[in-house]
Amino acid sequence: LITFTDVTKRFGDNVVLDDLCFGVEANKHVTLIGPSGSGKTTILRLLMTLAKPDEGTIEVDGEYLTHERKNGKLVPAGEAHNRAVRKKIGMVFQQFNLFPNMRVLRNVTEAPVHVLGMEKDEAEERARGLIELVGLTEHLDKYPSQLSGGQQQRVAIARALAMRPKVLLLDEVTSALDPELVAGVLDVLRDIARSTDITMVCVTHEMSFARDISQKVLMFDQGKIVESGSPDKIFNDPDHERTREFLSSVH
Ligand code: ATP
Repeated sequence: LITFTDVTKRFGDNVVLDDLCFGVEANKHVTLIGPSGSGKTTILRLLMTLAKPDEGTIEVDGEYLTHERKNGKLVPAGEAHNRAVRKKIGMVFQQFNLFPNMRVLRNVTEAPVHVLGMEKDEAEERARGLIELVGLTEHLDKYPSQLSGGQQQRVAIARALAMRPKVLLLDEVTSALDPELVAGVLDVLRDIARSTDITMVCVTHEMSFARDISQKVLMFDQGKIVESGSPDKIFNDPDHERTREFLSSVH
């Protein structure tokens, strides 16, 4: 469903992603691990088209990001193409970024109504289902400031799912939370991984969560994939010293 082909991304002289190739199959959950600065967040930002690769191409669900095919040639894409591809992808950030002036229900219905053009009644019915999925039915009418960080993050997850994305990107979604709130958010995500057919790309330092939800783990260092494999392989029997060092630093 996702294919990175020879993707290079630089910031000035800093090569952040170095000729990167990898793929994620539909309905699979992949976790990106690696030391700070190894390029994980940049991958998610490229997928969200918040940044563009300097070289190489990225395909999502059969469409190129930021490029389109015209008369057999790959050309920079127009805004309509980019908007259409972006709709396939939802993201949950470290900071929840909810709309502070809207109640929980409206936070979840806003984009489906205004971006997808969904009828308000249908959007509300779906939003109620998603809010139930993340365990917040009794908080429907609250504002974000009346919720704990963990509850706000669960609203952000419901809001991302409301757009019916094919891919859900999760960027260290528990790292801004107080420790006692982490488990509730991870439980919700485990549930979603189990009960939906959404494809997930997840950056996390929560290794037991990565082990539970992902079929594949990619270990990054300095913009390259050091090794990849099943969670069992990477966490129990990694091939590379760099992976062993990294894992002992986060445990
Ligand atoms: P972390 O775990 O700390 O979030 P990461 O693996 O997600 O790290 P990235 O955030 O992708 O790493 O950053 C990779 C490198 O790119 C870092 O050296 C960072 O300083 C650099 N970088 C990222 N965004 C920018 C930017 N907008 N301008 C300049 N440099 C950037």
